[in-house]
Amino acid sequence: MARQKLTAVRGVKDILPEEARRWSEAERVAREIFARYGYGEIRVPTFERTELFSRGIGDSTDIVTKEMYTFEDKGGDSITLRPEATASICRAYVQNSLYAQAGVAKLFCMGPMFRYERPQAGRYRQFHQIDAEALGTDDPALDAEVIFMLMEFLEAVGLAGLSLQLNNIGDAECRPVYAAALLEFLKKETAGMGADLAERIERNPLRFLDSKDPDHAEIISRAPTIDQYWNKRCRNHFDTLCRHLDRGGVRYERNPALVRGLDYYCLTVFEVTSEDLGAQNAVCGGGRYDGLVEELGGPPTPAIGFAIGMERLLQLTGKAGPGTGGESVEYPIEVFIVALGESAEAESLTLASELRGRGLRADRTFGGGSMKSQMKRADRSGARYVIVLGDDEIAGGVVALRDMAESQQEKIERAGIGDHLCARLRA
Ligand code: ATP
Ligand code: MG
Repeated sequence: MARQKLTAVRGVKDILPEEARRWSEAERVAREIFARYGYGEIRVPTFERTELFSRGIGDSTDIVTKEMYTFEDKGGDSITLRPEATASICRAYVQNSLYAQAGVAKLFCMGPMFRYERPQAGRYRQFHQIDAEALGTDDPALDAEVIFMLMEFLEAVGLAGLSLQLNNIGDAECRPVYAAALLEFLKKETAGMGADLAERIERNPLRFLDSKDPDHAEIISRAPTIDQYWNKRCRNHFDTLCRHLDRGGVRYERNPALVRGLDYYCLTVFEVTSEDLGAQNAVCGGGRYDGLVEELGGPPTPAIGFAIGMERLLQLTGKAGPGTGGESVEYPIEVFIVALGESAEAESLTLASELRGRGLRADRTFGGGSMKSQMKRADRSGARYVIVLGDDEIAGGVVALRDMAESQQEKIERAGIGDHLCARLRA
C-alpha cells in the first residue's frame, strides 16, 4: 500500500531550479547595483529574542500582535522567527559597534522572513526580502539616494509601470498632534462600527488609514492628513527630498494617507506598487526610523531603509524576467556522456570528472539502458556535444563525439578529448 504523501506546510513554497535561476539573477543584479552605492552585505540570524521585535516593530502592530512565529525554546527563552530584517540589522549595528566607523553605514541583507498571515496570491508565510539600510544621518539627500538605488534596481530587473508613493508621517513633535486630531475625527465617524474597531483606533488611529476595508475608504478620504500638521522640519525634509527626486528624474506620487504598518517609522515613508499585482500590490516598502537604534540601546542614529518582496518582484518580471539585458541566466549542460557496457560505464564516470575538472559542464546517463534510450536522455539534456563510449571505443583508445547541432559524429583520441572540447566550447 502506498504511503501517504507528505506535503509542505501551508503558505510556503518550493523554488524549483528554473525559478531559482531567476532568483539568483535578481540577487546578482542587486549586489552589483548596491555595491555601486557603497553597500556591504550583512547576514543576520533568522531568529532573535522575541523582545527585539516587540520593542522594535511595536506592540500594537499587526506583525507583532498577529503575525509572529514565536515559540519557547528548550531553555525557556521566547524566540521569534524574523518577520523583517530592519530590527535585526539595528541590533547587529549596536552589538557590533558599527556606529564607531565614520560616515554612513550602508548595509544590505537578503533572505527569508516569516509571518503567520492568511496565504493567498503574493502572500506567503515564509517569503523573501532584499533589504537595504543606511544608518547615520537625517540628511534628506540620503533618503533620495536610497530611493535612487531602489528605482535603479527595479528598472534593472525589468520592472515597468510602477508607482512610487511618498509621504512624510511627521516626527515625535508633530505626529502626536496629528494623531490626536485624527483620533477625534475617527471616533465620531466610526461610532457604532463596533467595540473592536473603536479599541484599535484608540490604540493607533494612524493604522486606520492602512485599512483595506471598502467601508472605510470613504471615511479615509475625508480624514485630516498629516501634511496639514507638519512642523517646519518635516515640511522642509519632505520638500527637500521632493526637489532631489525631481532633479534625479524620479517620478513619485504624494500620498498623505500612506502610513506603513510599523511603529518605528518617522518622516519619510514610501511604497512601490504595481497594478499588475492585484490585491497585494506592494513590491517594496520603506522609510526613516530615526529613533530605532536608540530604542535598541544604541546611540541616537537616524536611519532609512527599504525591503523588497522577492516573490512579488519575480511575479512581475515573469518568465522573461531579469536577464533580459542579454546576460545568460542559465548554465546548461554542455557535454553528455552515453556509455554502453560495464567498462564503458566505469570509464564514463572518470571522463565526466575529468571534463568537470577542466571547467566544462558535463553529465552522463545513470542506470544504463539501450543506445536509443540513452540518446534520448542526451538529447533532453540540451548538451551540444554527446560522447558515445562502447567496448570498441574503449579498446581503440578513442571516443565517438557527436555534435548535436550539426548532426555530425567523429572519432577523437580518448587522451585528447578534454583539449578538443575546451577548444570548441571555450575558444
Ligand atoms: P503588505 O501591505 O502587503 O502586507 P507590508 O507593509 O506588511 O506589506 P513590509 O513589511 O513593508 O510589507 O515588507 C516589504 C515587502 O515585503 C512588501 O512590500 C511585500 O512585497 C513583501 N511582503 C510582505 N509580507 C509578505 C508576505 N506575507 N508574503 C510575500 N511578500 C510579502
Ligand atoms: Mg503586511
